[in-house]
Amino acid sequence: MNIQADEATLRIAAVSDGIFIDNAFHGAASGRSLAVLDPATGHEIARIADGTAADIDAAVAAARRALSGEWGAWSALERGRVLAEVGRAILAQEEDLARLESADTGKPMAQALGDIRACARYFEYYGAAADKLHGDTIPYRPGHLALTETVPHGVTGHIIPWNLPAQMFGRTIAPALAMGNACVLKPAEDACLTPIRLCMIAAEAGLPMGALNCVPGRGETAGAALSAHPGIDFISFTGSPEVGELVQIAAARNHIGCTLELGGKSPHLVFDDADLDAAVPAIVAGIAANAGQTCSAGSRVLVQEGIRAALLAKLAKAFSKLEAGPPGSDSQLGPLISLTQKRRVERFFAQAEADGLPLLAAGRIAAGAEPAGFFVEPRVYGPVPHDNRLNQEEIFGPVLSVTLFADEEEALRLANGTDYGLAAAVWSVDGGRALRVARRIRAGQVFVNGYGVGGGVELPFGGMKKSGHGREKGFAALRDFSTTRTLVVRHG
Ligand code: NAD
Repeated sequence: MNIQADEATLRIAAVSDGIFIDNAFHGAASGRSLAVLDPATGHEIARIADGTAADIDAAVAAARRALSGEWGAWSALERGRVLAEVGRAILAQEEDLARLESADTGKPMAQALGDIRACARYFEYYGAAADKLHGDTIPYRPGHLALTETVPHGVTGHIIPWNLPAQMFGRTIAPALAMGNACVLKPAEDACLTPIRLCMIAAEAGLPMGALNCVPGRGETAGAALSAHPGIDFISFTGSPEVGELVQIAAARNHIGCTLELGGKSPHLVFDDADLDAAVPAIVAGIAANAGQTCSAGSRVLVQEGIRAALLAKLAKAFSKLEAGPPGSDSQLGPLISLTQKRRVERFFAQAEADGLPLLAAGRIAAGAEPAGFFVEPRVYGPVPHDNRLNQEEIFGPVLSVTLFADEEEALRLANGTDYGLAAAVWSVDGGRALRVARRIRAGQVFVNGYGVGGGVELPFGGMKKSGHGREKGFAALRDFSTTRTLVVRHG
C-alpha cells in the first residue's frame, strides 16, 4: 500500500472496517470494503467499509437509544462544553488531520490546514451557542401561560460530499449536536477518512455513546438507505441537485424536513468603476480554491464593457501563473477528487472548443505531477454567451467564464439568469449602486467589494432556487436543526 499521509493514514488504515456506532468501530454487515485513492497518484492508500442498509439500521437504532439515554439527558450547557472540547481536540491534532485530509482529497496542505481549523471553529462556535437559542412566552388568554420551547428533531441524518469533508463535518454535525439531536453521518465514498477520524476524536473528547454515528459507503446503498430510513426525523444533504431531489422525495415520503445545499453558478458583477486590484485576486482565489470544487466557487465573471480590456488582461495574467500539482508542492491547486470528475471537467473543455469559445488563458499542470493523478489545468474563457453550458452548468473545476454587460439591468438579468442562487459579489466603488444591485440578486449570500464565501461560521449560508433551501452556519443552522413545542398551561 502506498501511504502518503504517513502516520495519520496508517492509523486510519488500521481501523478501515470504519463503521462507527456507539463510539466503537465495526465491520460492514456486507463484509465488503471500498478502495480509498490518492487523487495525486491514483494509487490506493486505504480501504474503507462499504456500509449498506443493515449498517444504517444499526446506526439509527444507536442514535435513537442515545436520545433516551445519557445524551438525551444532558443539559444544553453540558452539550456545549463537550463540543468546545471537540474543537480544542481537533486543533491539538491539526497537523495530523490536515495531512490526512490532504492525502484523501489531494488538496494542498495549507488549504487542508485551513479546512481543519474551520472544522474546529464550528465546534467552538456551536459549543458556545448550545444554550443560547431559547423559546418565548406569548401573551394569550387570561388564566393561561403560553410559551415555546426549542427542541431537537431527534435523529438527524447527514449526507456530505467529498470536496470539503472536514469543513462539512463541522458545518453539519456541530449545530445538530448543539441542539441535542443524535446524528447518523454518511460521508462521501471518495473522501471519508477525516470524517471517520473526527468521530473518534469526538468520542475521545467525551461525546456519549450513540450521539454521533458514521456509516461510510456508496450513495446508492448507504446514502439512499439513510435518506429513506423511517427512523430519522430530519435530513441534511450537501451535493448534487440530482441526488438532492432524491433525498427530498425520500424526506417527503417520511414526512420529515430537510435542508439541501446543492451548489451554484455564482457570479461576480464587475462594474466600470471597480477596484480591479482588489477584484482580480478575489476572483481568481474564488475559483482556484479547492481546484474549483466548491459549491460557492465564483465561476462566472460579468464585466461591464468599459473595463473589459483591463479586467481580461489582469485575469489572463493571473490565470497563466496558476499551477495544479501534488499537495506537497508549491502549486496553488491540487488534483480533482477522482477520474470521474477529471473526465467531467475535460468534457466541458471539449464542449468549449466545439462551441468556439475563446480561451483567454490557461494555467499548467506541474511538471512533477504524476500522469495518473487527476489534474486539470485551470482555464478562463471569454466572452462566453450567457446561455452557453459554461455559464449555466456547475462545472466543479477551475474553470471561469467571462461575459459582458452594458448596464445595471443587464448585469442583474445575467446574474439572476441561471437555475442557481447560492452566492454573488458586486464590485463597484459607487456605494449606492453596489447596494442597489446587491439587494436584487437572488442568492443566499451576496458580497460587496469582496468574496468571503466559505469563511465565517457566523454567516448564514445556503441557496435560493436550484441551489437548495435551509440555512447552515450561524444561528440559522440552530433553528434548522430544531423545532418548536408550544406549551399552554391553564392555571385559572
Ligand atoms: P453526489 O450528489 O452524487 O454525492 C454527494 C453525497 O451524496 C455523497 O455522500 C454520495 O455518496 C451521496 N449520494 C449519492 N447518491 C445518493 C443517493 N441516491 N441517495 C443518497 N445519497 C446519495 O455528488 P458527486 O457525484 O459526488 O458530485 C457530482 C456533482 O455534484 C459535482 O460535479 C458537483 O457539481 C456537485 N457537487 C456539489 C457539492 C456541493 O457542495 N454543493 C459537493 C459535491 C458535488
